[in-house]
Amino acid sequence: MYNWLIVGAGFAGAVLAERLANERGERVLVIDRRAHIGGNAYDELNEDGILYHKYGPHLFHTNSQQIVDYLSRFTEWHPYEHRVLAEVDGKLVPIPINLDTVNSLYGLNLTPEELPSWFAERAENIPDIRTSEDVVVSTVGRELYEKFFRGYTRKQWGMDPSQLDKSVTARIPTRTNRDDRYFTDTFQAMPKYGYTKMFEAMLESPNIEIRLEADFRDVRRSVEFGRMIYTGPIDEYFDHCYGKLPYRSLRFKHETLETAQHQPVGTVNYPQTNDFTRISEYKHFTGQQHPKTTITTEYPSAEGDPYYPIPRSENADLFRRYEARAREEKNVWFVGRLATYKYYNMDQIVGQALATFRKLNEQI
Ligand code: FAD
Ligand code: UDP
Repeated sequence: MYNWLIVGAGFAGAVLAERLANERGERVLVIDRRAHIGGNAYDELNEDGILYHKYGPHLFHTNSQQIVDYLSRFTEWHPYEHRVLAEVDGKLVPIPINLDTVNSLYGLNLTPEELPSWFAERAENIPDIRTSEDVVVSTVGRELYEKFFRGYTRKQWGMDPSQLDKSVTARIPTRTNRDDRYFTDTFQAMPKYGYTKMFEAMLESPNIEIRLEADFRDVRRSVEFGRMIYTGPIDEYFDHCYGKLPYRSLRFKHETLETAQHQPVGTVNYPQTNDFTRISEYKHFTGQQHPKTTITTEYPSAEGDPYYPIPRSENADLFRRYEARAREEKNVWFVGRLATYKYYNMDQIVGQALATFRKLNEQI
């Protein structure tokens, strides 16, 4: 008999398992249908001994000291600031668009003082910014939008940016200085020995039992438990009773090359060419020294594991119907990217899980 069944051993499930087991001393069973813990942040050494991320590049960044302090109980850190180049018009230029991006693409010599008016001359006046197209076109104009955002977004999401909520491309800022970091968060680092090692430390407790390759649908009747945390897709929990919630998927092509370095930065984006979106090279993130290098190419797809909730209003409406059902479910908490249908980064999921713990700890 377990006090808690936790479905999913990703960030949401692992944080809650750790808190319930260590703070409340409760007996927790964590299950995952995959053969490993860590959810989408899972990493491992491949056959050449290079650390890579099975589900694509995961860069940890946050502005929350509380989240850093919490995770630092389970890992040391390798400082790393992510940089991304985009291949545009045959050149590799910084994304987010910054001063060097514009000067390099257009053969200009603008200063940081001049760039805002250069953007303003091209930006379109859109009074009500609703879509992912509006956000970019109203900031840098249509030409840069088409070069950097339109093609990439159409590949990644299988739809035009004009059909997607503004929050998607709003993840990518525009800069007038030369800062070429992908993120500007106060804390940016990789778990020193990898994400999986960090998860192992989180789940290391006599009160926690882990069962892998165990699907909730098969386990739910054979395990005795008091309460439950569910971090899988919310529509699946309710047998898609209101219809399927769309999640976007990816196919990952992992390759190890007979060269020490493949590309100049951690990730190169391909907004104009190819049927993949980006290529990432792990040694940039991890600082690992090795004569070979491992890269991952991401091919977006409608079929496959659910990786991204798709932010658009009709999906939000459908999610709200499931959410209303979820509120009626006794002794079940829905947490994480798939169960709350939120396009959240890892730190936001940790924050959401810690907040859930605080609330339930007050209630019960
Ligand atoms: P998940 O990690 O998806 O874990 C849910 C787990 O539940 C899964 O392991 C799944 O197998 C299991 N599960 C589901 N249903 C069942 C069931 N019925 N029975 C048993 N088990 C079940 N975030 C960042 O901060 N930085 C990044 O650079 C970054 N890059 C990303 C790149 C890609 C390609 C993707 C897809 C995501 C990226 N993210 C990044 C987001 C990050 O992966 C998520 O925020 C985080 O992993 C969400 O954690 P979670 O626990 O909510 O979900
Ligand atoms: N995006 C784009 N071109 C780029 C980078 C991003 O159009 O070169 C858009 C695209 O819609 C993408 C979104 O911005 O899905 C968010 O990008 P991010 O790198 O944050 O995506 P993630 O790492 O979550 O896949």
